[in-house]
Amino acid sequence: IPQTPENVAVSNIKVYARTRPLLQQEKEQGATSIVTLIPSDKKVIVEDKAEKSFKFENVFGEKASQEELYQSAVAPLVRKVLDGQKATVLAYGQTGSGKTYTIGTDPCSTKDDEGILRRAMSALLNGKVSEENLPPGQEDAHISISFLEVYNEVIYDLLANSRVPLKTKVEFGGAISAVGLIEKEVTNVADGLHLIEKGCRLRSVASTALNRHSSRSHALIYLIAQNGNTRGCLILVDLAGAEGVGRAQTSGQHLTEGIHINQGLLTLGRVLSSLSNPSHTYVPYRESILTRLLKESLEGSRHTAMIACLNPANCNMHETINTLRYAEQAQ
Ligand code: ADP
Ligand code: MG
Repeated sequence: IPQTPENVAVSNIKVYARTRPLLQQEKEQGATSIVTLIPSDKKVIVEDKAEKSFKFENVFGEKASQEELYQSAVAPLVRKVLDGQKATVLAYGQTGSGKTYTIGTDPCSTKDDEGILRRAMSALLNGKVSEENLPPGQEDAHISISFLEVYNEVIYDLLANSRVPLKTKVEFGGAISAVGLIEKEVTNVADGLHLIEKGCRLRSVASTALNRHSSRSHALIYLIAQNGNTRGCLILVDLAGAEGVGRAQTSGQHLTEGIHINQGLLTLGRVLSSLSNPSHTYVPYRESILTRLLKESLEGSRHTAMIACLNPANCNMHETINTLRYAEQAQ
């Protein structure tokens, strides 16, 4: 049978692009924006000498609110998680493009500014099936959280009291799980945010500058919705900075002069493009800790949203185009 759009497997990976405004400091340095969005066509255009255009599930401009992004990209996944399914949200982009702001672990954010984390936690807490509606023997509906970091292919539990590496256990099919990963029940949003804040502080003691450290590590927040025997899970991933990844992909090398290329990001890109290609035969999960951890949540009919975060300044054009190419291939 010839493949028509109707009988090609539909990918569950939805990719969104979001650009942030130019920061005050960038404006003072004379930066101009080279990113234009066409919301009606769901397109991002990067303008320099030649115009390049990229199409996504949806696009969000510098004025788009956190609420708008949440409703479009994340709310549908939260409903799946309340039904006991697995879903993943990935924030991808170069350092300074707005990944942490979008996920919502930025300690400086105000209430309107609050990102995906707070909104998803609140929706899960409100949506969990109340205990009286559950069948007998399943009166255990609750939300819990785990928080870990992958740095240099090692996993650290960020809910622990100190930053010690976790051992891993190989699961069926090449997935891994972190042995002894702490899971804490939360009964309200404030408690949940407090746990994550504490975890972020643990993360920062690893380095004098949090930003330098977070640019090289992936942070994974697991929001778990347990209803009796069903267990849904939403993983929010603040990925390592994508700077340099595009270059490595075109040259086929893992290291380019002086640039630390993240193995997890390279492998994640390959995994997502294989999953999006209906004729794929091999998905290279095994090549990084990040993709082995995410395997169960990405494969099959799971639900994944990637948000490609863009820094619109003209001096970042090459990184912006690399981010858009990576994101385009993932869908
Ligand atoms: P990353 O995590 O990708 O390194 P950040 O999330 O730390 O980037 O964002 C860099 C800076 O830009 C921060 O000061 C952040 O508050 C600001 N910022 C990011 N996205 C937005 C946005 N959509 N609107 C306003 N400010 C933003
Ligand atoms: Mg960050």
